[in-house]
Amino acid sequence: MERVNLKVGKLAAVVPQSLLFCYDIISRDTPLAGSRLHIEEIPVTARCNDCGHDWTVEGPVFRCPGCDSGSIQLTSGQELEITSIEIED
Ligand SMILES: [Zn+2]
Repeated sequence: MERVNLKVGKLAAVVPQSLLFCYDIISRDTPLAGSRLHIEEIPVTARCNDCGHDWTVEGPVFRCPGCDSGSIQLTSGQELEITSIEIED
């Protein structure tokens, strides 16, 4: 059975359960009909622009836990991409 591996960041505004539910319907008349969708959820991580600290963001706090700076950038969590497609022959 074919398997499609998908990476979904927790900030990607996609609910994995809904995606799994829709997948069967939207893949029905395509070459991927009957394949399975495997979703890997990517946590939200950020990096501080001031002290370089990296951490996993839990909850709606967007300040550096190291130096309390508000100057941060998200380094993951917004992914929505197919990482691989496995085909059995
Ligand atoms: Zn910092």
